[in-house]
Amino acid sequence: MDKELLISNGMLVDGSGSPPNANYSVLIRNGKIVEIGDRANFNISPDAEIVDATGKTVMPGLIDSHLHCSFDDVQSNDELFFHRDPVMSALVTAQNLQKILRAGVTGFVDPDTVHGIGPQIRNAIDAGIIEGPRMKTGVQALLTSVGGTAGRLIPDEGTVGYAQIVNSVDEVILWTRRHIKHGADWIKLHATGSLPGRSGELMVWSRDEVRAACNVAKELGVPVMAHCRNPESTKICAEEGVDLILHASYMDDEGLEAVIENDVAICPTFTFLANLADFGEKVGASSGMEDIFRGEIEETAKMIRKAYDAGIRLLSGSESGFALTPYGHWHARELEIFVEVLGLSEVEAISTATKNGAWAMRMENELGTLEEGKLADILVIDGDPIADITVLNDKSQLAEVISRGKRVDLNRPWPDHLPINGWKVGNWAEEILTWERAYR
Ligand SMILES: [Zn+2]
Repeated sequence: MDKELLISNGMLVDGSGSPPNANYSVLIRNGKIVEIGDRANFNISPDAEIVDATGKTVMPGLIDSHLHCSFDDVQSNDELFFHRDPVMSALVTAQNLQKILRAGVTGFVDPDTVHGIGPQIRNAIDAGIIEGPRMKTGVQALLTSVGGTAGRLIPDEGTVGYAQIVNSVDEVILWTRRHIKHGADWIKLHATGSLPGRSGELMVWSRDEVRAACNVAKELGVPVMAHCRNPESTKICAEEGVDLILHASYMDDEGLEAVIENDVAICPTFTFLANLADFGEKVGASSGMEDIFRGEIEETAKMIRKAYDAGIRLLSGSESGFALTPYGHWHARELEIFVEVLGLSEVEAISTATKNGAWAMRMENELGTLEEGKLADILVIDGDPIADITVLNDKSQLAEVISRGKRVDLNRPWPDHLPINGWKVGNWAEEILTWERAYR
């Protein structure tokens, strides 16, 4: 039996969306919360370890419902699709998982993984071989031959990087079943994709193909999520049985109606666009489209607020795994955006990353809120996220991360590694060397 752990006298934000409670204590035994409330009423063993949370906030660990743990803060599609060895991907992922955990993320959902390594990474975490948050995962994203956001880097058939190409209803059925056989917790459809010379993303799946994936997944008890970045895709996916829409960009009234009618959850994942718009220039990723990204957030946010008011489950996802959203840095930025752009209260915003995140993990009865009998994934914050939500992104104010009932050592050096041979691909040059550039 593990030693008991007592978190004493903190301000409790239980993750359900309820207002905070002052002077609450939490007693943890064997990975579970056994008592919660006034410690005077607890039955505490004399050798219990005590974390004094006086003046601090106690809340559930964050659940990031959209991150890509195997992408290694990728800087280009070329790198992601053509330069990643599966064994090295797994090893690097194991190190990156520590960063995610140490940022207060005790659970996450990964839609798709390079070389489909997700289920084995999850199994390695569960078996205690590598250290990381609880993980739920897809295998690879299903794409049609039109592709997703990588244009012609996606082949006409077969597999590459995080993508499995499906070219007919039969192939959709085959690969949905195969992914489930290989351990998928979620099936991911890349419903929209970009075409050279066309603005925005287009719906690149037929209605029949979407329906086939949803029907087969449902028969085997596995939920389906879809990347939807145009109005039509959200509507069709919601109508045909998708459980969770990622992005829901430019959702229109019909899409909203379909989402409400079919009780579909939404994970907007504004963080990536917001980071690109606000900080892209700082890392040489300025595209001149900053205003367009801001516009996408604002336009989409209006509709998502309506969905939220209609009772739709809203999830917090950071899209970590890209150079603009590196692991361990931005997992709570989505909550800041929910407060700022959607007008959510701080407790409401937090519940999108706790209670609602547990839904995405399919662990609603075990995770996501601080209650007796639930699993002990808990944060102690040296600050008040109800007064200032941005403290959740500041690791210097993260006093404790408790994962599976045990304190995570936050004092070790931040995990890092030297350059890996053949791993990163840089452009030959930032600019074209014209004669004028050289001499004028
Ligand atoms: Zn994503």
